[in-house]
Amino acid sequence: MHESCGIFGVYAPGLDNARLVFFALFALQHRGQECAGIAVCDGNEVHLHAEPGLVAQVFTEEDLAGMRGHAAIGHTCYSTCNARRPATPQPVLERNGPWSIAVAHNGNITNSASLRQSLEASGQHFASDSNAELIAKLIVSSHGATWQEKTSSALKRLQGAYSITALTPDMLIAARDPMGVRPLSLGSLNGGLVAASETCALDHIGAKFIRDVNPGEIVFLNNETSSLHFGRNGRRAFCVFEHIYFARPDSVVEGRLVYEARLAMGAKLAEEHPVDADLVLGVPDSATAAAIGYSRASGIPYREGLLKNRYVGRTFIAPDQRLRDLGVQLKFNPMASLIKGQRLVVVDDSIVRGTTTPRVVNLLRQAGAREVHLRICAPPLRHPCALGVDMASEWELIAARMSVSEIADYLGVDSLGYTSVPGLVEAVALPQDLLCLACFEGDYPLPVQMGLTSLTAGSERV
Ligand code: SF4
Repeated sequence: MHESCGIFGVYAPGLDNARLVFFALFALQHRGQECAGIAVCDGNEVHLHAEPGLVAQVFTEEDLAGMRGHAAIGHTCYSTCNARRPATPQPVLERNGPWSIAVAHNGNITNSASLRQSLEASGQHFASDSNAELIAKLIVSSHGATWQEKTSSALKRLQGAYSITALTPDMLIAARDPMGVRPLSLGSLNGGLVAASETCALDHIGAKFIRDVNPGEIVFLNNETSSLHFGRNGRRAFCVFEHIYFARPDSVVEGRLVYEARLAMGAKLAEEHPVDADLVLGVPDSATAAAIGYSRASGIPYREGLLKNRYVGRTFIAPDQRLRDLGVQLKFNPMASLIKGQRLVVVDDSIVRGTTTPRVVNLLRQAGAREVHLRICAPPLRHPCALGVDMASEWELIAARMSVSEIADYLGVDSLGYTSVPGLVEAVALPQDLLCLACFEGDYPLPVQMGLTSLTAGSERV
């Protein structure tokens, strides 16, 4: 499953802002491994460096040393593993007369096609199909004599999910869509201000968390900070998959430490789906905390029986069919001496298509597991995401086609248990009306066309 992007911004005159963004992007690398980019402003011009690759591959010491300025933004985007075309590196820089802005975006604009058409009809030309380019063009071409007026006028026209950081010659802008689908937090650093997709990026650069950007809020950061609300107070739809899978466990998302939420998901699974077993294992890394939670609640010992090679990125596997066939074996290694003859509870974050899980189960069987009882933090995924998560089309979602017992047979496990929706909400410990649960329940927070093979068709997913 792919989301998603990591965005960051800093306004801190006197500090090495490009390098701060570089380290923040390292902390956000889990949100996207395909491209990385930094835009920096010296007070006159916005300078940009954005290319395909991991953060450490895209920037050299020389690049960073040459990027000086009082403010900067950065972006990482996800792998193209299932995307129809390569992602466009961000930030995207747009100029229109005296107005120039760089934009980094995380989300999915659901009315991008009509907005593009109207901009093209007014004579604008697009260099990519990137939502970030669309947003940047909308801002610079919107009515208004100030960035505040132009930005709020542009964002009012967007539908869907978007958290953005943007950089003008004299300010950093951070904004979040009115449903608050993706996270965005503000922090302070040595008299400067920062905005980040996740608080783990603030921690790594020594910034102090101030607060989350509110849904429908734009924050303008320079020597004076101001904020305005452009969105009406409508339905909230924070993506619950941030807590299940996307965010790092050490991030605080919507006021809840992700690690704590995952521990609680594991405890809830133990309560809803108990089983007699010898060991609890988590599929690393996203299900590790939930496995510990299951173990604590059930009293069954937890072991790190499945090791993950964190250095095998998709980038290296993708071009070689033979390596692709090895698949999970390249990524996971079971410790046979721990597993042999044992009845295992295996905790994973979610099952999307059901293509990877049987291979993991097979690895554990080959290592000698006597029984495999699979426990899943997310409820069954029966509906595709309309807000930018590249999970699958409805017909590809295994839980949309099969019952739980049929899935258990298909995966080759001795038993299968999913967290219930109420159980998940309880574990996340946020009000249900704040969360998006559409991929489980089909209750979309915005109008979508049903019956499409993919609800996100035609829109960029970052
Ligand atoms: S549909 Fe699912 S994946 Fe998409 S935003 Fe809602 S909770 Fe997240």
